[in-house]
Amino acid sequence: MIESAWTCKHCKRRFISERAFMKHECTQMVRGREIQTVIGQSAYGLYKVWMEKQRRAAPPIETFLSSAYYSSFMKFSAWARETGIPEPQKYVELMINSKIAPALWRRNEAYQIYLEHFDKRTDPITQATTTLETLLDLAEGLECSPGEVFSKFQVGDILELIQQRRLSPWLLFCSRSFKVWYQGLHDADRSALMKSIGIDYWANKMESKPQVVAELKAIAESIGL
Ligand SMILES: [Zn+2]
Repeated sequence: MIESAWTCKHCKRRFISERAFMKHECTQMVRGREIQTVIGQSAYGLYKVWMEKQRRAAPPIETFLSSAYYSSFMKFSAWARETGIPEPQKYVELMINSKIAPALWRRNEAYQIYLEHFDKRTDPITQATTTLETLLDLAEGLECSPGEVFSKFQVGDILELIQQRRLSPWLLFCSRSFKVWYQGLHDADRSALMKSIGIDYWANKMESKPQVVAELKAIAESIGL
């Protein structure tokens, strides 16, 4: 057998010429590069959490690279970063408990489960504090008052901040400025926004906590929100 100097270290394929070897690219090689990135490292970390939480041994990186779930975890990792999921590990745990497969984690229904869980776990005042910080930050950058922030953005941008819970419905629905802003939107924009926030869910939630709502209204009013 002829010894080949050109062997792919990823798939072990051998080449008889350097030219063919240099042109070669295989799935394992591409994945080997992807795993070095921030998204790749985070995907592998989340894959380990997913395995461990199901009481399976933490797999070596080679197992992940050849896993049938590789693409799902890479896509989820990129999506979680882009969406600004506060705690991706918690997201994974919740998906296991809800018996949702990795390929479906980026769906809106899955994300709603996560947000509802987040809202149950994080008390309204803590959420309102984060919201205030976000609004004050944005107001400072835009040189406007916190209450004027909403009208400086597209509806989609405000919704994104709400989905990330950098703006929480708790404080927003207690804010006069927010109400004036959304009531001034086009009908289609307003109903899409309210549907995405889950207006019925929030109406019920707030109705059940009148004292919290009163407290939040006072906070909003005190900063002219
Ligand atoms: Zn190869």
